[in-house]
Amino acid sequence: MDDCIFCKIAAHEIPSTIVYEDDKVVAFDDLNPQAPVHTLVIPKGHYENIVDGVPADVLEAMTHAIAEVAKIKGLDRGFRVIANTGASAGQTVMHFHMHVLGGKDLGEGLI
Ligand code: 5GP
Ligand code: ZN
Repeated sequence: MDDCIFCKIAAHEIPSTIVYEDDKVVAFDDLNPQAPVHTLVIPKGHYENIVDGVPADVLEAMTHAIAEVAKIKGLDRGFRVIANTGASAGQTVMHFHMHVLGGKDLGEGLI
C-alpha cells in the first residue's frame, strides 16, 4: 500500500520509536500517547483490520510481540490491548494495529 503510513513505518521509510521488531511485526510508540505506555503492534504486511484475513502465523507473532512489549516496558501490573476495527469504532489508520496501553491504573471499564 503506497500511501499507508504504517506500511512506511514497517519499512523504516518514516521514523518511529521502535520497541520490538521481528520478521513479521513491528511495535512502536504511539505519536499521541493516551497512557504512560502506549505502543502499537502492527503486522509488516498490509491488512486493513483484525478480520481482513490475517494469517494465523502473523496473529501469533503479534501476540508474541505484545508479550515482548509488556516485558520491555515493565507492564508487570497488567495492560490493555485494543484493536479498533472500522471507522465507527474509531479506527483512523486502516492498517491493522493493536494498541498496548499501560503504566497506570486503567480501571475496570472497557472503554
Ligand atoms: P486508531 O485510531 O486507528 O485505532 O489508532 C491510530 C493510532 O496511530 C493513533 O493512536 C495515532 O496517535 C497513531 N498514529 C497515527 N499516525 C502515526 C504516526 O505517524 N506515527 C506514530 N508513531 N503513531 C501514529
Ligand atoms: Zn499498510
